[in-house]
Amino acid sequence: MTSLRLIPPALDWTAEGAPRSRGFDDIYYAPEAGFAETRHVFLDGIGAPEVWAGRARFTLGETGFGTGLNFLAAWDLWRRTAAADARLDYLAVEAYPLQRDDLRRALALWPELQPLADQLIAAWPHGVAGSHLLSLDGGRVRLLLLFGDAASMLAATEAQVDAWFLDGFAPSKNPDMWSPALFAAVARLSKPGARLATFTVAGVVRRGLAATGFTCEKRPGFGTKRGCLAARFEGPAPVVKDATPWFAPPVAVPVRRIAVIGGGIAGLTMARVLMSRGVAVTLYEKAGSLLPEASGNPVAVLEPWIDLGEAPAGRFSLAATLHALRWYRDYAGDGFEPCGVLAQEDRAWQERVAAGGYLPPEDVSLQADGLLFPRAGMIHTARLAMRLADGVDLRLGQDIARLEDLDADAVVLAASFGSEALGGFPLSLAVRRGQVSLLEGGAPLGQVLSGKGYVTPVFVTPEGLRHLAGASFAAADPSTEDWRALAEADQQANLEIFQNLLPGSPARLVGGRTGLRAASVDHLPIMGALPVADYAADYGGLAHGRRGDYPQARYQPGRYVLTGLGARGYLTAPLLAETLAAQILGAPVPLPRSLLDALHPGRAAIRAIRRAKKTG
Ligand code: SAM
Repeated sequence: MTSLRLIPPALDWTAEGAPRSRGFDDIYYAPEAGFAETRHVFLDGIGAPEVWAGRARFTLGETGFGTGLNFLAAWDLWRRTAAADARLDYLAVEAYPLQRDDLRRALALWPELQPLADQLIAAWPHGVAGSHLLSLDGGRVRLLLLFGDAASMLAATEAQVDAWFLDGFAPSKNPDMWSPALFAAVARLSKPGARLATFTVAGVVRRGLAATGFTCEKRPGFGTKRGCLAARFEGPAPVVKDATPWFAPPVAVPVRRIAVIGGGIAGLTMARVLMSRGVAVTLYEKAGSLLPEASGNPVAVLEPWIDLGEAPAGRFSLAATLHALRWYRDYAGDGFEPCGVLAQEDRAWQERVAAGGYLPPEDVSLQADGLLFPRAGMIHTARLAMRLADGVDLRLGQDIARLEDLDADAVVLAASFGSEALGGFPLSLAVRRGQVSLLEGGAPLGQVLSGKGYVTPVFVTPEGLRHLAGASFAAADPSTEDWRALAEADQQANLEIFQNLLPGSPARLVGGRTGLRAASVDHLPIMGALPVADYAADYGGLAHGRRGDYPQARYQPGRYVLTGLGARGYLTAPLLAETLAAQILGAPVPLPRSLLDALHPGRAAIRAIRRAKKTG
């Protein structure tokens, strides 16, 4: 994976203390009256606050996030005028994200926005290309920042936008932000009747908007300015050729109550994210307690996963890692111990990760004995589960046999390999048995050590201080109970892992735990809407390489799946749950379409058809 680091903009500062772009030779906002101008041009331009009155969910989109002034002004007005249980989604593109210190300086001009600005500055993501989802205002506001070129980022994104702010630099200086491709991408994401506001009345903008289905109205400009535009999307929705119609995203329908099946880390995280988005959740777990399988080891390691390959695993691993490091810091409280993880394998990989700028400097440091992730660490699973389940209607010991019996608008199957039978759709899941060992003695250890396996620092158990070492990952047969017994060979292998990672620190095996995990054939998780049972029948022509018009994917209404997280459930669950929640609710989806395709529940079925082509 080539470096995705973006170059921060070179700025000058005006006498008033406002930033000015050297590259574009233009201002971010009017130095003397930015906030007032934003209110006039953008907020009045879309008809706020009336436009979101009575709306439980509202989505704003912006081209050119810049300093975030428009965002903060909109959030400030929304939180003073929207219902207490409403939610705001804000989607913004930015190709040259400011550095945090510049952001702080640029926003210091607006004392009335400072409490909100402080939240934004604290959550400001690392400047790598891709999507960054921030949760603000106690979860009432989701800010999805798409770092990269506006037209191409928007073209790869799924969202249904209620109102837009177009705020590139002046069209004469920044034509990419006012191109036909940009207007087409904006139109594709617009709901019928979507509102739009922009500061410019340039002909290229009026014509571009009109050509993609917006009707424009010229409004008086702010102060002495010539004028500004307000527009409304009157369609028709543009037809965009879909290269992979078999993975076409589902259409969201309104939901109030969702059933989640499975009380492992996937199901629990899903429940937490849906709750924070204002959805009532009932969680069913057939065992008598939460985290009954592999995610219930007493501690779990949260180690960054950075796959440097060009395949989808590269970008997915980085997005999931950046999101997880933020998410556990924000949500997990004492369920997460950021003691650090020292990765000791593969020096060439360590050097590339350190040099590539994939993670913020606070999150990675190359040392003589390995690559240190200082803010990764270990999860105390029982404590985390309690926090995640807070407020969730829990039904433990309830084995769901028929989804039809559930009283819910939608169901998420997070039931590991059981998801396949419940969903009535083949997912090609493999069952993997994992065994971890508890050890007594040895050095207390300040950080998790990882290499061939891992060893945690000591943690408190009722029997005393213990290390955890692991983990085996081998095929298992879930139809018998044989896999439950501790295998002596696995205990010895875990002891060896311990001794190799901590040489000269004698310790004794004092127990262990086994659990099952579901893994997909290509090792990526499985996430998305569940296709209908005869889904593959529509695409049989792929076996013969037939091109042509294939129908859009068909889905079982209100049925979704999240499984196959393999051995990285804790790391990937937060971003997967946010992504699936966004798909279900029609909110901006924090992964690009190419990665949604790579995670799609129908991919094994499509692969089987294509494989038939090769062998047939
Ligand atoms: N709305 C911003 C605010 O509230 O501070 C001001 C935006 S400023 C006028 C224009 C922004 O567009 C800059 O932040 C610039 O980096 C960004 N930009 C310029 N070209 C871009 C492109 N091709 N894709 C994405 N963003 C771009």
